[in-house]
Amino acid sequence: MAESIRGKSVIVTGASKGIGKGIARVFAKHGAKVLVVGRDLASAEAAARELVGMGHTASAFSADVTKLDDMEAMAKAAVDRYGGVDVLCANAGMFPQVKIEEMSPEAWDEVQATNLKGTFLSVKACVPYLKKSGEGRIVITSSITGPVTGFPGWSHYGATKAGQLGFMRTACMELAKYGITINAVMPGNIVTEGLEGLGPDYMKGMAASVPLGHLGEVEDIGHAALFFASREARYITGQTIIVDGGQILPESPDALSQM
Ligand code: NAP
Repeated sequence: MAESIRGKSVIVTGASKGIGKGIARVFAKHGAKVLVVGRDLASAEAAARELVGMGHTASAFSADVTKLDDMEAMAKAAVDRYGGVDVLCANAGMFPQVKIEEMSPEAWDEVQATNLKGTFLSVKACVPYLKKSGEGRIVITSSITGPVTGFPGWSHYGATKAGQLGFMRTACMELAKYGITINAVMPGNIVTEGLEGLGPDYMKGMAASVPLGHLGEVEDIGHAALFFASREARYITGQTIIVDGGQILPESPDALSQM
């Protein structure tokens, strides 16, 4: 399966750390040429350097997913450096935690602009090149939070993650005639620098709610994205895959205690 990724030009937004960095690593390991995108150029360069140090093909590009000009420059950079855009992993996102009563309209807008509008803008900028690929692939990083579950403080975040799936289902129909597929990975709790920032108690509590007994790793999301991007997944579009160690399944804490 993974062989079909070799030589492909792959853009990963939000690849300077966390899940995006894991996605970039998985694609690079399978022979893709990866554009590592984030706002902070130094962090993106450090992540790209790690991949190059492992013998892979990667380079950094600084861009803000909330800006169409940046997204167009990003797509152009992939074309200039790697000959086109075959795969877009629309992964960049933010998840500040604030409850509705304290949430400002500006805080709401910032999360929508990054997670939801950012998905739209990155897709819009890459479509002209994905059309030329002949095997264009878009993989969105959504979440279980919003489409399936809720968590206090993440109403704005959950709205964006569910919104990404609504966007995807119509995009799938508009892009099908170009042979472009668009699918979404829905991670549960994945260990990243960002999640670690929420503290050890949060991490421990989350692991206790997962039937497999531990949090996911960034590569777990990378492998699901790799599958959607592969040639073998060519007849799958507009679909989702939950990668959460079974987290959404227990119907009560009691169900977990009886395992
Ligand atoms: P993270 O560790 O905080 O990394 C976020 C990445 O996105 C960084 O590379 C950051 O780089 C980039 N980014 C943020 N805002 C950006 C913008 N406006 N333009 C371009 N790049 C931007 O986050 P993560 O946990 O890996 O999350 C990545 C994705 O996975 C998000 O969509 C999130 O919703 C989803 N997710 C995560 C989890 C989890 O458990 N970690 C679970 C479910 C879903 P710069 O700051 O330099 O721009």
